[in-house]
Amino acid sequence: MSGIVPKLFVISGPSGAGKGTLVARVRERHPHLGLTVSATTREPREGEIDGTSYYFLSDEEFSRRVAEGEFVEWAHVHGHSYGTLVSEVTSKLDAGSSLILEIDVQGAFQVKERFPDAVLIFIKPPSLSVLQQRLVGRGTETAESVATRMANAEREMVLADRYDEVIVNDDLDSATDELLRVIQKHERN
Ligand code: ADP
Ligand code: 5GP
Repeated sequence: MSGIVPKLFVISGPSGAGKGTLVARVRERHPHLGLTVSATTREPREGEIDGTSYYFLSDEEFSRRVAEGEFVEWAHVHGHSYGTLVSEVTSKLDAGSSLILEIDVQGAFQVKERFPDAVLIFIKPPSLSVLQQRLVGRGTETAESVATRMANAEREMVLADRYDEVIVNDDLDSATDELLRVIQKHERN
């Protein structure tokens, strides 16, 4: 792997922008790209597996781990706590491959402070109305949760210009190509 430098990539964007979809597609074409499993206090959705989708923690357990300094970053997002465990980042970076953290904007800036070489990538939907269609179409959120996520989306979008890279997820194949191109460009730098 000469000339390739493993990097920490942070991917953010409004809920429903397509982050999970794009990351899964890129990882099929770039199998060495690791992904951290975050901790959260939200309830598991149908089909989500503890330890694979997220580490699902009680509020008490999350607070205890914050106090013990177990998080690289953490934030309140859409009414719940989410965070990246130090153990997830160190074990996977030590394995010598690049790593993706799919986290919110508050967490992204905390990571950049701690790891200045991290590359921040923002995924934008083509418009807020398309975002709403995707969130509703995904079928995972209640009407109330869609409303919270749409309100947060507007606040998150204004922070896109503080990211190193911005990708608009309109056509899925083009956005997947673009994300892969951006990752490989930074791994060569
Ligand atoms: P996020 O991880 O950002 O919350 P998801 O990856 O879950 O978003 O995508 C939200 C919904 O939009 C999913 O149902 C997904 O299949 C769909 N989706 C993602 N990207 C596109 C795209 N480019 N065009 C149409 N639908 C998309
Ligand atoms: P969801 O509940 O849809 O799985 O995730 C909601 C939001 O939480 C997403 O925008 C996602 O980026 C963010 N998120 C997921 N994991 C983390 C994390 O470890 N840290 C932070 N700060 N945000 C996270």
